[in-house]
Amino acid sequence: MNVLNDIAIPSLILLSIGLILGLALGIADKFFKVAVDTRVETIINLLPGINCGACGYPGCAGLAHAIIESKGRLKDCPPLKSDGENAIRAFLSTAQGPHGETLDVNKI
Ligand code: SF4
Repeated sequence: MNVLNDIAIPSLILLSIGLILGLALGIADKFFKVAVDTRVETIINLLPGINCGACGYPGCAGLAHAIIESKGRLKDCPPLKSDGENAIRAFLSTAQGPHGETLDVNKI
């Protein structure tokens, strides 16, 4: 009887708590999931990477985010050469965002 009281019941309580917390985390993940736009990382890699700030953003990542949000344009980056610009346009012409959307490459 002592073994049941000392080991089995606390183990069942801990198992129950683990199951409840696991279920709660699973539900939270479903409802509070933040969609990440993976296109940003590729654009950062295609930008010059100088982080000079001439585009008005603190670095290339800022302009990459702005482009994805249709707030920034490629011409905002003076060091960007035409081959880099073409590579970004080619990438964005087919790449889809987290909800399957694409950008109008004529507006970036
Ligand atoms: S101007 Fe171009 S190189 Fe300079 S920080 Fe902006 S995106 Fe990067």
